[in-house]
Amino acid sequence: MTGTLYLCATPIGNLQDMTPRVRETLKMVDVIAAEDTRNSVKLLHHFDIHTPMTSYHEYNKVEKARQLVEQLLAGKQIALITDAGTPAISDPGEVLVRMCHEVNVPVTSLPGPCACITALTLSGLSSRRFSFEGFLPGDKKERRMILDELRRESRTIILYEAPHHLTGTLEELYGCLGDRKAVLCRELTKKFETILPTTLKKALEFYQEQEPRGEYVLVVEGKSIQEIRREEIASWEAMTIEEHMAYYERQGMDYKSAMKQVAKDRDVGKREIYAYLNQERQK
Ligand code: SAM
Repeated sequence: MTGTLYLCATPIGNLQDMTPRVRETLKMVDVIAAEDTRNSVKLLHHFDIHTPMTSYHEYNKVEKARQLVEQLLAGKQIALITDAGTPAISDPGEVLVRMCHEVNVPVTSLPGPCACITALTLSGLSSRRFSFEGFLPGDKKERRMILDELRRESRTIILYEAPHHLTGTLEELYGCLGDRKAVLCRELTKKFETILPTTLKKALEFYQEQEPRGEYVLVVEGKSIQEIRREEIASWEAMTIEEHMAYYERQGMDYKSAMKQVAKDRDVGKREIYAYLNQERQK
């Protein structure tokens, strides 16, 4: 019988957030794969769990995932935990999950704490649609690309950041997105939990004065639909009607549909565009 991989969410600060099901599962499995065994040993000790642990972290994730999958195929029950929160959220868990799916090893999740969702719900910003970005990439080119994408993002944006990078990231976000509403969620579920509803500019000024400490989640307001619309109109206005038509035709639209869309963008009648293009053609 193939074993099962159990994704076990652990507390992000408050030990009382450990669910009974996670406790039982961690006691029941044959092995616990942990991101940092030295860190997790304290958690397991607290809950009187003595299951053997093995390390599964960013640097050995592919090789180790293969070994864990072999053990699962041989019938071992394995739990995956990370330093804190939900496995596979900004940690190497997804690689192991993917490999399990490839060989039909059952995977189940025991939900629990997750910093991004906790922060989003506390932010008061729109939670109807959101984009979880995790940590911005360290690679400069990739980072620039993501920041450029975020410039137009209309969903609420959630980011993780380490305290020593917080001011730099706030500076980049402010430079790229402008002054937006932002909520800084610090030390969630811990004694010094702080929720700071502010703006990117004010947060930057604040942390230029005061050194950031603790763990942070940044929740940033998405771009308003009105602003996106205003920018679109400004960009259409900078184009000639022919350029505007060519823009849609390049995207595969037929002439008639492009004309309809151009009229809609420019808030004029379809006939007006048709008459203009006809007139130009006859010149
Ligand atoms: N898997 C975790 C989860 O479910 O949220 C996230 C792991 S990620 C490696 C660690 C980052 O999560 C931290 O740098 C911080 O941005 C955020 N984080 C974790 N715990 C937090 C807490 N108690 N308060 C605020 N942010 C936290």
